[in-house]
Amino acid sequence: MSGRPFFWQDPGGKMQQGNTRGDAGTCEGVDLASLARREGTPLYVYSAAAIRGRLRALQAALAGLDAGVCYAVKANSNGAVLRLMAEEGAGADIVSGGELWRSLRAGIPAGRIVFSGVGKSAAEIVQALEAGVARFNIESRAELELLEAIASARGQVAHAAVRINPDVDALTHAKISTGKSENKFGVSIAEARAWFAQADRWPSVRLDGLHMHIGSQILSLEPVRQALQRMAGFWRELEAAGHAIASIDVGGGLGVRYREGERPIEADAYVAEIRQALDGFRGRILLEPGRYLVAEAGLLLSRVLLEKEGEARRFLVLDAAMNDLLRPSLYDAWHDLVPLGDAAERPPVAYDVVGPVCETGDTFATGRTMPRCEAGDLVAILGAGAYGASMASTYNSRPLAAEVLVDGARYAVVRRRQTLDEMIAGEPSAATWQTP
Ligand SMILES: *Cc1c(COP(=O)(O)O)cnc(C)c1O
Repeated sequence: MSGRPFFWQDPGGKMQQGNTRGDAGTCEGVDLASLARREGTPLYVYSAAAIRGRLRALQAALAGLDAGVCYAVKANSNGAVLRLMAEEGAGADIVSGGELWRSLRAGIPAGRIVFSGVGKSAAEIVQALEAGVARFNIESRAELELLEAIASARGQVAHAAVRINPDVDALTHAKISTGKSENKFGVSIAEARAWFAQADRWPSVRLDGLHMHIGSQILSLEPVRQALQRMAGFWRELEAAGHAIASIDVGGGLGVRYREGERPIEADAYVAEIRQALDGFRGRILLEPGRYLVAEAGLLLSRVLLEKEGEARRFLVLDAAMNDLLRPSLYDAWHDLVPLGDAAERPPVAYDVVGPVCETGDTFATGRTMPRCEAGDLVAILGAGAYGASMASTYNSRPLAAEVLVDGARYAVVRRRQTLDEMIAGEPSAATWQTP
């Protein structure tokens, strides 16, 4: 058994962060079986080196451009991950007041924060103006009016970009496609054109940026190229009409390898498209990757509760469930499942791998061929660093899983396992009735 690297390898083959070889898997220099014994399961494990490696590779690809990476906080909003991003010079792409608060606490300067999202509340806009975020990415005329009203009342001028919906198919799962005209995100180029033409209607908003985000888990450059070309065409048109454009935000969406054989887009190839499409652009270029920076840097460590022979299928029941990692239920997402230790040597069988939650949708994999497992075995669910813990809930009254960050031979608990008391904090033991 040659072992299976947990995280990606860079083109030189050097960035292998963990392996299933030997008695058990490792994440950097830390043994996963001991981690599971010490911290319990289900347990999210992130590799700091893997996250840094991805971010640095992207930053290196951007060398020479006036460009910055605004990490999409929703992918993994753990404070330790955000502090790591801050240390490495990344900014943040936020979609709520909560994400703004987390980002600022983690030391990401407001001047490197952009605020996206299709429904920002007045309170969130005030919070962002108070903090002094770099830019609002505006998704509707109603939002533009609201930003104008709030900024004007505060005597501030808000920097804004219009989120273009370039109407391209990102060739990804329908639930993570955001750049088609039927999606709720952004506005058409025609609509954006009208905003620029009437920009003096909104004196407290400096509309001098363009933004897009066409979808997530994009594995093909073609839709990226198409969208960039539409964006670039519009930027040139606006400049020709006398509108200065200070910033172009190309969004996130870069895909990762969830499945052996999948080939993510290389940072260099992606940035080459940006360089080409935006050739001659003198303002700042922003990127908003989320998944790309953290997905493969994390795994969800779970233990086998039991094996169950059904009438028609053979089930493997893990102690992790859809409340811990929703992606398979929500997006039919594939995650590689790797049994650790001795289990890796056993003959393969086909399992429906499920969690204990009372939903048929609580299924990590259907008919998955993997080594025969026994109660107590550890199974690593790979590619769980993005949209894992950040989407978790306490459904079925299962407390939130713990999260650890590994750095070299050490690890830190960056979120302790939620206690039952914490889970019900906020629920009084008896109702105090009031009349509105
Ligand atoms: C979710 C999101 C991102 C990040 O998407 P990834 O696929 O994780 O890179 C970037 N920008 C916006 C506006 C988003 O909503």
